[in-house]
Amino acid sequence: MFDNFEIWWVTGAQLLYGGDAVVAVDAHSKEMVEGLNNSGNIPVKVVYKGTANSSKEVEAVMKAANNEEKCIGIITWMHTFSPAKMWIKGLQQLKKPLLHFHTQYNEEIPWDTMDMDFMNLNQSAHGDIEFGHICTRMRIARKVVVGHWKSEEAQKKIAVWARVCAAVADAHDVRCLMFGLNMNNVAVTDGDRVEFEQRLGYHVDYYPVSSLMDYFKKVTDAEVDALVEEYKKEYTIKIDESGEEVYWEKVRNAAKAEIAIRRVLKDENATAFTTNFDDLGDADINDPNFCGFDQIPGLASQRLMAEGIGFGAEGDWKTACLYRSLWVMNQGMSTGCSFLEDYTLNFANGQTSILQSHMLEVTPLIATDKPKLEVHFLGIGIRKQQTARLVFTSKTGAGTKATVVDLGNRFRLITQDVECIEPKPMPKLPVASALWVPQPTFEIGAGAWILAGGTHHSAFSYAIDAEYWADFAEILGIECISINKDTTIENFKKELRTNEVYYMLNKALC
Ligand code: MN
Repeated sequence: MFDNFEIWWVTGAQLLYGGDAVVAVDAHSKEMVEGLNNSGNIPVKVVYKGTANSSKEVEAVMKAANNEEKCIGIITWMHTFSPAKMWIKGLQQLKKPLLHFHTQYNEEIPWDTMDMDFMNLNQSAHGDIEFGHICTRMRIARKVVVGHWKSEEAQKKIAVWARVCAAVADAHDVRCLMFGLNMNNVAVTDGDRVEFEQRLGYHVDYYPVSSLMDYFKKVTDAEVDALVEEYKKEYTIKIDESGEEVYWEKVRNAAKAEIAIRRVLKDENATAFTTNFDDLGDADINDPNFCGFDQIPGLASQRLMAEGIGFGAEGDWKTACLYRSLWVMNQGMSTGCSFLEDYTLNFANGQTSILQSHMLEVTPLIATDKPKLEVHFLGIGIRKQQTARLVFTSKTGAGTKATVVDLGNRFRLITQDVECIEPKPMPKLPVASALWVPQPTFEIGAGAWILAGGTHHSAFSYAIDAEYWADFAEILGIECISINKDTTIENFKKELRTNEVYYMLNKALC
C-alpha cells in the first residue's frame, strides 16, 4: 500500500545569495532526499520537488501537492534563510500534512575552513526558526522533527509520520458498512457520523442484513469446500464437545459467511464493517428452510481483520474505522494489531491486570502460535448457537491501545500504553485473548482511561505507539491525550480540564 504514495520534499531558499547558492542548495537537497530513500527507514518514497525561492513558487508547489493524489504529505526544510512571508500564501493553500524537518546538510562545522560563505549557505539554524514562526502564527498543524538527516533517530521520526500520512490518506477513502446498527442503548459506540466524516474522513453507511443474506444464499458448496481447505492448512483443527458432524457444519457456515461478507465489501468498495449479534438475517433457525448465520460471523471478522479490513463489534463503527487505520500504519511491522475489549479484571498481588478478549473477534495477527479452529456454544445475542472461532493467546511485551470517542462537541483520541503479560492457562475459555497491565500502573492507567471517557473496545498494536496517534490527531485536528508511564491522575485531570477550555475557545476545532 505504501508503494502507491509519495511524500514531497520542498527546500526553502531565496535568490538573495545568487544563483550559485541555489544550485548548491538544490544539489544538497537531492543528496539528502536520496539519503532518506536509501536509508531503508522511510516506508514511503520521498520525492524532491525542488527549491522554493518566492511566494509564487511556494504557492505553486502547495497547490500541486493538494491536487496530486499520490502526495500524502510535504516535508519542508530551509537550507538558507527563507523569509517566511513568502510562505504565507502557500501555507494558506496547503491541505496535505506538513512535516518541518529542522536539519542541515552539513553535519559538523568545518572548523579549519569555516568562513562567511559557508555560514551563509548553511543557515537552517535560523532559517528553520523563521519558518517555524510563520507556521505557529498561522496555527498550521505540523510535526517538527529535529536532527541530522543521516541520523537514524530523525529518520525514524519521519517514518512514523509517513505511516500516519498513509493512514490519513487511506481514511479519506474508507467506507465502513454497518451490518445492522450499533447495539441498542450503548452510548460509547454511538456518535455523530456526519461530523466523523468531516473530521476524520471515514464514511460510515448502514447495510441491510437482508441484502447480506442474499449474498450468503448464493455461496456455492464448492466455494465453501475450497475455503474450508484453506482453514485446514492455516489452523489446528480441534474438535471438542460439538462432535465431528456439528463441527464441520458450523465451520462450513462460518466459511459461507466469510465468502458473503468478502463479496459485499468488494462490491460496495468498503474496507471496514461492523456486526451486531441481534441482527443476523433469517429469524427462525428451526425453520427447515432456514438460511442465515448460525451466530455472529466471528471467524470471518477475525480473518478479515488480519487482512486489514476494519472491524468493530456491536456496530462500533468508530473502532472499526480506527482499526483500519491502525492496520495501515502497522504494515510491514513484525508484530500485529487487533480489535480488543476490556473483558475481565484480574486483581492479583503485584500483577493486577485486564483480560482482553471478545465474544469471538480477536485477530490472529497478535497470536503467539498457530491458532486453533474450534466450535463452541455462544449464548449471546438473538441466535444462541454453537459457532466457529479461532482460539489463541497473544504475544507479550509493550503495546498501545487507542480509541476515539465522541464528546458531543468534538472527537477525542485516547491512547494508553500497556504491558502485555503471560496469562495462566485458561482451558475453559473458548476465545482468543491477551492479558495486560495498563501503564503506569493498573490503578492509574485504568482510572485515567475512565476519566477520559474511553471505550471498552479498542484498537491495539505492539508497534504503533502514542507518537503515531499523536501525529494522526494533529493532522486531523482532533484532541489527543495519552496515558503512559508519566501519567498522574492529578495532572491528567488538569489536562482534561484545560482541553475542555481549549476546544471550547477554538470553535474551528469542534
Ligand atoms: Mn464488545
